[in-house]
Amino acid sequence: MEFIDLKSQYQATRDLVNARIQAVLDHGQYIMGPEVAELEAALAQYTGARHCITVSSGTEALLIALMALGVGRGDEVVTTPFTFIATAEVIVLLGATPVFVDVDPLTANLDAGQLDARITPRTRAVIPVSLYGQPADMDEINAIAARHGVAVIEDGAQSFGADYRGRKSGNLSTIGCTSFFPSKPLGCYGDGGALFTSDDELAGAMREIRLHGQSRRYVHTRIGVGGRMDTLQCAIVLAKLPLFEWELHQRRRAAATYDALLGTRVRRVARRADRSSVHAQYTVLVERREALQQALQAAGIPTAVHYPVPVHRQPAYAALSGGDPCPAACTLAGTVMSLPMGPYLTDEDIGAVCAALLDCVGEARTADAAILTA
Ligand SMILES: *Cc1c(COP(=O)(O)O)cnc(C)c1O
Repeated sequence: MEFIDLKSQYQATRDLVNARIQAVLDHGQYIMGPEVAELEAALAQYTGARHCITVSSGTEALLIALMALGVGRGDEVVTTPFTFIATAEVIVLLGATPVFVDVDPLTANLDAGQLDARITPRTRAVIPVSLYGQPADMDEINAIAARHGVAVIEDGAQSFGADYRGRKSGNLSTIGCTSFFPSKPLGCYGDGGALFTSDDELAGAMREIRLHGQSRRYVHTRIGVGGRMDTLQCAIVLAKLPLFEWELHQRRRAAATYDALLGTRVRRVARRADRSSVHAQYTVLVERREALQQALQAAGIPTAVHYPVPVHRQPAYAALSGGDPCPAACTLAGTVMSLPMGPYLTDEDIGAVCAALLDCVGEARTADAAILTA
């Protein structure tokens, strides 16, 4: 069993992917070829955002979003410490200071109730992360940020395709970012990412920044980066799009099977009823995690930890964050464990994972296992 099965996915989309790659090889426009604009149009339509700008990775998307907002030295950007390092890395790269707000211990997403107190006159942006594929409390976060005149960038690297109160992840705030890293819900076969916005001015700025700040050839109106997504990777995402809704359905099927088999015996990250998750990860909360992972590995079941150390406790970041304690993030970092997940995971596989896991945890808990329905 694989933790994320990319081979089966390729087999399911093989003919379309191969044909799309061949078409690029035939026309030879490897950089900014026609598939780039085609993908941007398709993804803008999918999310409902007016603009989509493809970029070289999810990390680059976050960097370009902050650059377009003019974030730099002396500024503060509020974010969650319980995320992949890229979310905070781009803030520091621009000379700004990350300010960490703790997460909701149930959903592992930024706790909107603690946000207002952390916004200062120097705050320029808030970056909530839609962790494990489930959007954060975007309405609450947007409302608080708007009161302070601060932009919100959704880090939707794990949540492309998720719904939140009738809207799509990526189109929930000033700017949305996503990643097409191969193991993300909508992956390419290399690096790729995208920015979404309905603000025409920001869209123009982000398009220019992606191409070295060019407003036209060799006229550099602003400082930019080499941030293009190459044509082949855009073609691969285009080839995978027709199957994407089916794949999301299969991810939900897999999550529902896990839910049913684990019942109340294993705690897990809560999911809210007013939004959907695309289940980038199916994450349980366990004790004595290392021993458990070893026992499962011995039974042929791979697991992963996202993330074992929160950003504000990482050696390179600890000194930057002003000692925010963020106890919920620390507790989660010590207890989260993700199980194999993906559209091609069979019910038999899920049965085997759950049998082994329940065997290991024994007669554990009942009451506090929870899928929230409020
Ligand atoms: C994957 C990921 C990123 C970075 O995306 P890349 O395409 O790998 O650069 C950023 N934030 C989060 C939350 C991620 O999961």
